[in-house]
Amino acid sequence: MNEIECVAGVCSARERVVGRFAPSPTGDLHMGSLMAAVASFLAARSCGGRWLVRIEDVDRPREVVGAAARILFDLERFGFEWDGPVWFQSTRNERYRYALDRLIKAGHAYPCACSRREIQLTGLTAIDGYRYDGRCRTGLPAGRKALAWRLRVPDEQVAYLDGIQGVQSQNLANDVGDFVLLRADGCWTYQLAVVVDDAEQGVNQVVRGADLLDSTPRQIWVQRLLGYIEPQYMHIPVIANSRGEKLSKQTLAPALLKGGEAKQLWMALYLLWQSPPLDLRNATINEVWQWALLHWSVNGMPQKRAVSVEIDRSLAYTFLKTNK
Ligand code: GLU
Repeated sequence: MNEIECVAGVCSARERVVGRFAPSPTGDLHMGSLMAAVASFLAARSCGGRWLVRIEDVDRPREVVGAAARILFDLERFGFEWDGPVWFQSTRNERYRYALDRLIKAGHAYPCACSRREIQLTGLTAIDGYRYDGRCRTGLPAGRKALAWRLRVPDEQVAYLDGIQGVQSQNLANDVGDFVLLRADGCWTYQLAVVVDDAEQGVNQVVRGADLLDSTPRQIWVQRLLGYIEPQYMHIPVIANSRGEKLSKQTLAPALLKGGEAKQLWMALYLLWQSPPLDLRNATINEVWQWALLHWSVNGMPQKRAVSVEIDRSLAYTFLKTNK
């Protein structure tokens, strides 16, 4: 156990910080993913903490061949150094099975026979799609086979204090519904895998994009059921285009450029509200990292899920005036 000196107002832990970056290999890193990597790295390292990398390759159908290797290569060329070996979720089947078995034995998880179409037909909506009405909660209907395994969620508020976004609270029954842990195609879901891995890797600080803010109460609920500690969460505002669409593979976010790493790192710091000095744009990558480690702070970040930016042809990003 290390005592942590407080740097930049975020290191209050008495335990050594363990942070992580957990990309899904569904494409190449872009500016939004670089921001999540940089923020999680700086939050951990500026407190003398450990920083881990985990490839979240549970969703096999969405995986892009070669993306995992390219992500790791990109992290290296941007000067990231991680502790310990990279974990791959695709190798952790038994651990997720063990967690699911515990949830089943305790009566928290149940098999579900409903197809996506049947769920859509109920017309019930949730924060991110359709809400399951719980019809298999009390047992599979006669003659139907289990397709997926779901978690029974409570009709109560699950709240936590986010280090950037402030108090967050969700009623899992109304806002989400009983959610899937093991899919009909045999893939483990992100919600289960992320919780098991964070716990088994000793992660106590999760810094990631605010597009995952709404997933956090689900993850906290699974942690509580499995008796895991709740990490400290910080959700950084993601960057969006002028139409408010998050920069992602779906919105055709450009991959990081080959070369010019120091400038792109500078840009990530600017988009993370670190106000890097202009002359640092011409510094070496090591100098940019040194500056960033000394100055890391989440105090200047807005309590917003997304901020709009404009991207010019040289892939320079500028905040739009509408954010002010
Ligand atoms: N694998 C997720 C993604 O790439 C991130 C998971 C997390 O940070 O919890 O969006």
